Amino acid sequence: MKKKKPALSTKAIHGTAMHPYRGPVSLPIYQTSTYRFKNSGDAIRYAQGDPTVYVYSRYHNPTVNDVEGKLAFVNDAESAILFASGMAAISTAIVTFVHSGDEIVSIPALYGGTYRFFRDVLPGNNIVVKYSEPASMADISHLITPKTKLVYFETPTNPTLSIVDIAGLMKQVKAAEKKFSIRILTMMDNTFATVLNQRPFESGVDLVVESATKYIGGHSDLLAGVVTGPRSLLDKIRTSAKYYGGCADPFMAYLLFRSLKTFVLRVQEQNRSARRLSAALEKHPKVIRVLYPGLKSHPHHSIAKKQMIGFGGMVTIEVRGGVRKAVRVCDALNVAVNAMSLGGVETLVSIPVYSSHVNMTPKELASHGVTPGMIRISVGLEDVDDLIADFDQALRA
Ligand SMILES: *Cc1c(COP(=O)(O)O)cnc(C)c1O
Repeated sequence: MKKKKPALSTKAIHGTAMHPYRGPVSLPIYQTSTYRFKNSGDAIRYAQGDPTVYVYSRYHNPTVNDVEGKLAFVNDAESAILFASGMAAISTAIVTFVHSGDEIVSIPALYGGTYRFFRDVLPGNNIVVKYSEPASMADISHLITPKTKLVYFETPTNPTLSIVDIAGLMKQVKAAEKKFSIRILTMMDNTFATVLNQRPFESGVDLVVESATKYIGGHSDLLAGVVTGPRSLLDKIRTSAKYYGGCADPFMAYLLFRSLKTFVLRVQEQNRSARRLSAALEKHPKVIRVLYPGLKSHPHHSIAKKQMIGFGGMVTIEVRGGVRKAVRVCDALNVAVNAMSLGGVETLVSIPVYSSHVNMTPKELASHGVTPGMIRISVGLEDVDDLIADFDQALRA
């Protein structure tokens, strides 16, 4: 795959190209639910389908639309839709296309919320989800039937940072489409890598979903989700989004606009720090293993090298002494913060069996590759030497 430099140019920072307002340097917040018509002619034009007439902020809002344009640009996509959260983006995108009687093929190591949505909600709508075994999705051909509507996956996965060979998976999907003469939609969650480290559209993925709460937002101060892709698909999602109602609010969109200005700088630094921290922890006597796609020891390093531009800011370690030791380490950290979530400027740690994978059966944990002694680290923007020293003292405590 051709590797590109991060695509955030000056245009994505300023966004004036798609900015309809000439005056302000920053983005005005249109904090309004509704819009005053000049006269009823506006209402009539709206009724006739004129997209330039704003009527109600669940349908469209200038601040939200501006940021959507920027997100589409950054992703090299025709269109983007911003949602109130990553889960709103994921669930709305899925229910737009997958209906009663359809089947989904997916990876067991999904984000916990998506996994529970598949496990606890979709069966009630008569939608079957089949999980690939082995988890790498290296061979899913036996799972695809004429009823398969969607192949849904993420890479790197949470929390083991396993890598799915995106191009290889797309080849399998293309072959199955031909075999059954069907169209299978592919949807990928790019939250962990972000578009700066991984560009799924270049491998032919149809739709990319992302929790913008994480790296795009980047400051642990907002919830947001985004779907990007071709206009033909996004228009359908936009219609159902109006009625499921998980729309973004203008203030959140403004915060994302700010976040996008430093998106490249943050992710580049987090890539660098995660690489250094993972290398240091790999040598630590209290650490059994370090999972980071950028390490030569990572089981999928060669695929990661092929398809990723940078290896991201997420590192998972397994400590000697199981979950009790993992708890002690997390409580002894002074720089890293013991909190769920990821992608922010503060380094966060969490224990998967107490957070993303809480209340899962031993069988489910095994299929997700999760062990009790794991600590997931989201590397922030602190001085990396401070972080290395902090983990060293906590591991020795
Ligand atoms: C957090 C997360 C989500 C869900 O996003 P929210 O903004 O919390 O709704 C989905 N996928 C991944 C990989 C995530 O980390």
